[in-house]
Amino acid sequence: TFQPLDSDFYGFSTTLEPHEQEALTTVRSFLADHVADRVTDLWETAEFPHDLIRPLMATGVGTWAWEETRPRENSAVFRGFLALELSRVDASISTFLGVTEGLAMGSIGVCGSAAQRAEWLPRLASGEIVGAFGLTEPLSGSDSARGLTTTATRDGDHWVLNGQKRWIGNATFSDITIIWAKDTADNQVKGFIVPTDTPGYVATKIERKTSLRIVQNADITLTNVRIPESLKLENANSFADTAQVLRLTRAGVAWSSVGVAIGAYEAALEYARERIQFGKPIAAHQMIQDLLAKCLANITASIALCVRVSEMHDADAQRDEHSALAKSFCTSRMRETVAWSREILGGNGIVLDYRVARFFADAEALYSYEGTREMNTLIVGRAITGKAAFV
Ligand code: FAD
Repeated sequence: TFQPLDSDFYGFSTTLEPHEQEALTTVRSFLADHVADRVTDLWETAEFPHDLIRPLMATGVGTWAWEETRPRENSAVFRGFLALELSRVDASISTFLGVTEGLAMGSIGVCGSAAQRAEWLPRLASGEIVGAFGLTEPLSGSDSARGLTTTATRDGDHWVLNGQKRWIGNATFSDITIIWAKDTADNQVKGFIVPTDTPGYVATKIERKTSLRIVQNADITLTNVRIPESLKLENANSFADTAQVLRLTRAGVAWSSVGVAIGAYEAALEYARERIQFGKPIAAHQMIQDLLAKCLANITASIALCVRVSEMHDADAQRDEHSALAKSFCTSRMRETVAWSREILGGNGIVLDYRVARFFADAEALYSYEGTREMNTLIVGRAITGKAAFV
């Protein structure tokens, strides 16, 4: 039976449907039984657990968002709690799913034709194939709306892609990568499903990361990569279409950041109950309780905001600025929470075995990917003032 997390202090997850709670319980026990004990070593060696992909996807975790794959109706709030459960155990595993399910399936779900959706969504949802999402480039990160230099040139019934991508999650082993490129005819950003065995596609692992070491990121070069028209995302014809995908996934990152905060907070609370200083557990000292209560307040406020942004998604009322505010607010609260949690562990807070150090380091990547705090703030600023201040 479903147990709300203690850190879901106001019991938001108690209002989920029974079948949603059951699915959360399945995923939670899978993570506890098969993932939790491995992530410290995997983080240290920067290895991705390929053997976990099929069993993880077999829990159904990637199926819920789209008509073509979902076993039953479900809510965006439930899917947010799924992301939270994954990140609470490990942010890399959650990012792996966020890329293949959120970004890659999201691009096909939002911008694909009916035929493209029918062909690709079930294969990605089952883990038969893995997806990646290539928007960022070496010279264009925050300004990818304007600054993309990867080109797509129409050649008969094919497209020819040329350029470079950077930071692309899962791309060292993905089967397909969604590539965003500017059409040389109309200068608009378009999206393509690129099978990674296409000649001219080369992905190279980014080494020596200090955050999200388990997830694999790649630099990609595209040299005359020929893609048939059938693999151009039918409804991805300008950056506004890309932004629709990001609106979805940014809310997902907000949820994931709450999971990271919870993972660190739970480890800190457990430690505080056991660690004795001045003759009593540090949990019994007032200033440690202050830190714990501040962590819980951050977590609670963030869950409340995420729940609302997901409800707005289901009511078709979510705008870019809603998910941008949730992403920037929740990742900022996460960053405070992992730091306070680390503080509670004293010196042991920087040793991987005590769990908090991994969450502390991983938080930095969530803080910056899918739009930095500054970019998401500018999206909110534009909505408040009616004036775009990006440039
Ligand atoms: P820059 O754009 O160079 O920004 C540097 C700093 O300048 C930031 O603080 C930024 O906020 C600030 N800045 C820039 N412009 C302004 C402005 N106008 N006003 C104020 N401040 C400004 N991308 C993908 O496409 N696919 C992926 O799968 C993917 N996965 C990632 C995984 C990880 C671990 C990381 C770290 C990144 C990933 N990214 C991915 C890329 C990520 O989205 C970018 O790193 C992010 O958008 C920021 O771009 P940048 O790193 O080029 O920073």
